Amino acid sequence: MAIQLFVPRFHVDECLEQIRECLEKGWTGMGFKTLEMEAAWKSYTGLANAHFLSSNTAGLHLALEVFRRRFGWREEDEIITTPLTFVSSNHAILYAGLKPVFADVDEYLCLDPQSVRDRITPRTRAVMFVGLGGNSGQYEAIRDLCREHGLKFILDAAHMSGTRIDGRHAGHDADVSVFSFQAVKNLPTADSGMICFAEEEDDAAVRKLSWLGINKDTFSRTAAQGDYKWMYDVETLGYKYHGNSIMAAIALVQLKYLDEENTYRRQLAAWYEEALQGRDIGLVPVAANCQSSRHLFQVLVPRRNETLAQLNARQIFPGVHYRDNTEYSLYASGAGTCPRAAQASNSIISLPLHLSMTREDVGTVAENLRDIVSQASPTGTGRISA
Ligand SMILES: *Cc1c(COP(=O)(O)O)cnc(C)c1O
Repeated sequence: MAIQLFVPRFHVDECLEQIRECLEKGWTGMGFKTLEMEAAWKSYTGLANAHFLSSNTAGLHLALEVFRRRFGWREEDEIITTPLTFVSSNHAILYAGLKPVFADVDEYLCLDPQSVRDRITPRTRAVMFVGLGGNSGQYEAIRDLCREHGLKFILDAAHMSGTRIDGRHAGHDADVSVFSFQAVKNLPTADSGMICFAEEEDDAAVRKLSWLGINKDTFSRTAAQGDYKWMYDVETLGYKYHGNSIMAAIALVQLKYLDEENTYRRQLAAWYEEALQGRDIGLVPVAANCQSSRHLFQVLVPRRNETLAQLNARQIFPGVHYRDNTEYSLYASGAGTCPRAAQASNSIISLPLHLSMTREDVGTVAENLRDIVSQASPTGTGRISA
């Protein structure tokens, strides 16, 4: 039987029950379940604000838009970011008319504080930190660097639903954190996300921006009077980025099982670590104070592409997260500036990790990987140099 990278688990009957409520009520859009999900997310994470959106990509764009407008950031102002991410993180910077400046990664495959420090200029406005695979890497050092230099700390928390850092949910000390509940993330819906600003003013701004710039305060005032529902104001050019009640209905159910499921993800990761110890395979460490969601289990191997092809031939289908974004034409201006990310890009593999896997499945993957790597390179190592 083939072993796939991701197989999302849905609590089908409970999801259908929640969706049925929306359909029977005749309310599938924004409001109703989206508000319930926002309240549930705030209570689960302890974050001060939460606004439910159509995706994390939309959320990252909005995060930058809200700050750009509030602080008067100019075109080509710089955002320091990682090349080792899904392109959404960096596209969002371009959507907002800002300039991505790539810094290198560390042994956690997250942004390296020293490299970030080296990239700071008078035009730097923020750092975009990606908690790769649910790992927090050197999160605190980057956060402190941001405070020291008056930069906004933006957390792309697409992989961090349920990640705790020193016992607190990821994002509590970020200026904004953006989560993804996309179809194969560790809190899967179909497409949705959550944006959590530290400041209430920014939360109020994003609620307007995510709904075409419509001022909902005016809306609710007039709606409360029963008449003049069309009498809202439009203050600014916004976007159609808000979430809907069908996605929120699914998210509410999935959230109930998140901790339990992340615990099993960490168990799978621990089995992998045990089975792969001391071999020619580089294990990506998790920060000591981080209880990772374990969205991913990544290793570094020699001759990665051949290794992947051989695993596929054995019915094992891992993934790659991610290719160094500066390898893409759109970001080619950053090529050659982040050697560790470039090296990782050519040696990382995300091993299959999902809730239907057993200890035996982990053993099967590990055994095949060890076998392939030892044949390919009896002495080489996938570990990236510091
Ligand atoms: C999935 C992902 C995104 C985008 O999330 P969507 O909800 O699909 O828009 C952004 N950043 C990272 C690191 C991701 O993995």
